[in-house]
Amino acid sequence: MNQNDIAFMRRAIELAQNGADDDQGGPFGCVIVRDGQIVGEGCNQVTSANDPTAHAEIVAIRAACKNLNSFQLTDCTVYTSCEPCPMCLGAIYWARPSAIYFAGTREDAAAAGFDDAILQPARQYDDARLFGIGLEQLAVCLRADVPCEGRGNK
Ligand SMILES: [Zn+2]
Repeated sequence: MNQNDIAFMRRAIELAQNGADDDQGGPFGCVIVRDGQIVGEGCNQVTSANDPTAHAEIVAIRAACKNLNSFQLTDCTVYTSCEPCPMCLGAIYWARPSAIYFAGTREDAAAAGFDDAILQPARQYDDARLFGIGLEQLAVCLRADVPCEGRGNK
């Protein structure tokens, strides 16, 4: 984790905040980066698009793949404001980025009313590597007076 990782995670959280403020959907944002540049980003648009699959990660993956003119996100890093749900984790797996960082945990999401525990059997990657893709938590606070720090490996 470095300052760039923190900056990209801040952007993901900013997208989450803005998307919720604009009533686009739930408070989730995602940024996809390659070679230090944002190649795709998005926020949850489930309620505004009437699309239950319009999670931030899916929106960002579609944008990045379109930009890169590729169906895979080779050498890309995904920064998402919350631990991916099983649907997004599946999409991330198929997109094949090299790393994933998330801020909030699935427990944080459940506490906010976004509980996907019923889907947990589909997510048995805990304490393991997801087909070579690291899934690591990078907790970042938007407020300047709260120090940023990673919580280490999940
Ligand atoms: Zn999702």
